[in-house]
Amino acid sequence: MRLTRYFLPVLREVPAEAQITSHKLMLRAGMIKQAVSGIYSWMPLGLKVLQNIEGIVIEEQERAGHLPLLMPTIQPASLWQKSGRYDDYGEEMLRIRDRHNRDLLYGPTNEELITEIFSSHVKSYRDLPLTLFHIQWKFRDEMRPRFGVMRGREFLMKDGYNFDITMDDAIHSYNRHLVSYLKTYERLGLKAIPMRADTGPIGGNYSHEFLVLADTGESEVFFDKRILDFNFGIANVNFDDIGECQKIVDEWTAPYARTDETHDPEAFDRVVPKEFQGVSRAIEVGQIFYFGTKYSKPMGAHVTDSEGKQVPVHMGSHGIGVSRLVGAIIEAFHDDKGIKWPISVAPFKVGIVNTVMGDQETCEVCEKIYSELTTTNFSPLYDDREERAGSKFTTMELIGIPWRITVGPRGLKKGIVELTDRHSGESREIPTDNIVSLIKELT
Ligand code: ATP
Ligand code: MG
Repeated sequence: MRLTRYFLPVLREVPAEAQITSHKLMLRAGMIKQAVSGIYSWMPLGLKVLQNIEGIVIEEQERAGHLPLLMPTIQPASLWQKSGRYDDYGEEMLRIRDRHNRDLLYGPTNEELITEIFSSHVKSYRDLPLTLFHIQWKFRDEMRPRFGVMRGREFLMKDGYNFDITMDDAIHSYNRHLVSYLKTYERLGLKAIPMRADTGPIGGNYSHEFLVLADTGESEVFFDKRILDFNFGIANVNFDDIGECQKIVDEWTAPYARTDETHDPEAFDRVVPKEFQGVSRAIEVGQIFYFGTKYSKPMGAHVTDSEGKQVPVHMGSHGIGVSRLVGAIIEAFHDDKGIKWPISVAPFKVGIVNTVMGDQETCEVCEKIYSELTTTNFSPLYDDREERAGSKFTTMELIGIPWRITVGPRGLKKGIVELTDRHSGESREIPTDNIVSLIKELT
């Protein structure tokens, strides 16, 4: 992409309405634009990051054997009346009436709709286990939308639902979800800590939240500091191995606790010795639930078991805050100059800065590097504007491009270009002929 052909509405000033770093940087880098409180348009740069996150989430879901589908944003109220949640959900639910006076709602989550799909089509234990997921916009009329995409009213969520014949099977589904989520966050560059949690309006009896430590997080968490040295290196987990998944869950979730949850308020006190007790703010980037037959019973999601009896299926649900993750990743990776994207989600992996647009050789070398990287799918961003080099550097740093290639007449006389690592800030001189192959190795 050539910057002169791109739509990158960066802001010079820090917008007054933004309180936290990620919100400020997303506005300054031209990633989002508020339409109305808690509802945003995603500009091209922001959309690229959102889609990169989605891509990783989808890959890891499919690797774990979960099947994608797509449910609508608008749902009939009648389904929620059946489950009993239509009244329970309260003012967070956006209720709509159509021209025929039918009550609809903009889905805050999809347990009811998926249960209905399931019960219409699945009748036998032979078709289980089954896990379906989608990535779809949700609406919750949050009392205080704030912090940009972190607490929006409209937000993008990956939500998945598992159907199992027994509780044991459903717990295995739960465990494999926990493991696949750890893998997902790891690929996004994040250390997300699984912590036991309350189930809230989703209901049920077993739940973990995934929390990224950050000063600007809305949750207060209490944890065993040794978790921070844990290496979640789970590249080769066999998801079908019940024992292996259970072992990971036991090892990685046992020592951590939150005191604001009800099931075991003393757990934190058992972290011995005291020097390992950590307290921090954190961002919730996902949550998983096992809730048994809470929806399958009232909504008639029964199947025949191996003895021919009709039994309600055991279910769980699992959510990842896809749009919130964009903010969470920025909270984790930035400095005073701007964003520092992990390579896996970066909107462009390489930036090319032409320091003297008037110099013919500089332009030729930039064009050559640009076209070689473009044809091999490295999607570089080429800053070909008639601007000072300093202001080009500032833009690349603000929008967080992991690698920057600087091309100018002085370097070219020596046969070199400069390669700068956004994460470490270090620059080195690279022979012009080697730069493309080096980039391919690094990204
Ligand atoms: P929170 O406690 O932050 O309000 P929640 O527990 O109500 O979230 P879940 O029902 O667990 O949310 O939804 C799954 C995920 O969706 C959350 O872990 C979070 O990452 C994301 N999410 C929830 N609400 C919002 C929101 N208003 N804006 C952006 N993301 C959200
Ligand atoms: Mg939650």
